[in-house]
Amino acid sequence: MSQPSQYAVFGHPIAHSLSPRIHQAFARQLGIALEYGTIDAAPEAFAAAVRQFFAAGGAGANVTLPHKGAAFALADERSKAATRAGTANVLARLPDGRLAAHNTDGAGLVRDITDRHRVDLRGHDALLLGAGGAARAVAWSLLDAGVQTLTIVNRTPETADALADAIGEPARVHTRYWHDLAELGSYDLIVNATSAGVLGGGLKLPMSLVGARALCYDLAYGAAAIDFVAWARAAGARYAWDGLGMLVEQAAEAFELWHGKRPDTEPVYQSLRAG
Ligand code: NDP
Repeated sequence: MSQPSQYAVFGHPIAHSLSPRIHQAFARQLGIALEYGTIDAAPEAFAAAVRQFFAAGGAGANVTLPHKGAAFALADERSKAATRAGTANVLARLPDGRLAAHNTDGAGLVRDITDRHRVDLRGHDALLLGAGGAARAVAWSLLDAGVQTLTIVNRTPETADALADAIGEPARVHTRYWHDLAELGSYDLIVNATSAGVLGGGLKLPMSLVGARALCYDLAYGAAAIDFVAWARAAGARYAWDGLGMLVEQAAEAFELWHGKRPDTEPVYQSLRAG
């Protein structure tokens, strides 16, 4: 009997990762035999650990903080989404042994909003808080999904400007200063792509940002998203969600890249939501 294919998620730290649970649930659902583990690699050990994993027969890997940039850099081929983001959260071994880098974060966010929650993003005026790796990935996908305008605000303004320049759509994409948030008016979609909640520092956001039909979405999930979701609800947002659905959807995108089959994400999402 052939051995199950080997998959893993690389991060530092990584013990908290829900990826093994998600991928094992998808595999059970579709009758695919696989093993999916966690690999804790410090930044200086990441490239060697990836090479060792794939040399030993690894078929695919997810990559999370702090390795997404390094994963993009070490790959032999890069998808359009990874190239746009400049980061990769998925590595796949090609038939000739080389490594392909993908980024499924942006597609995961849009699928969660448009497929699970059935909100059409076309015509929305969107505010993106943050300009790090995840923000870079989701900015392009939000534009592809039809948002009318995208305003990027980052604590370090140069990074927001660099992202807007890379996108190159000055009629739709603007940057503003963090200290001007109170003067910006209101938005239909507010995406928190900062790691403030994860790092434990709260964001002080004016409620005037939240428009009458606003959807507020924190890419973080669980305890890290509590403050943002509470702020959005208090400000009258129509929808206020954390990033658990995005986590499941970006995993489903990766699963489909590796196995050519799309899992049903809903039962897995519900199971994670239940704890
Ligand atoms: P990065 O480290 O690449 O970027 C962090 C961003 O947060 C930067 O824009 C940084 O600003 C900003 N930031 C950090 N602290 C503060 C603060 N106190 N106030 C304001 N801005 C702050 O992280 P990622 O982009 O990879 O991740 C961002 C978030 O997205 C995390 O919460 C992560 O867990 C989540 N995520 C969720 C996913 C999901 O599937 N649900 C997938 C990927 C990410 P500056 O440039 O000034 O430092």
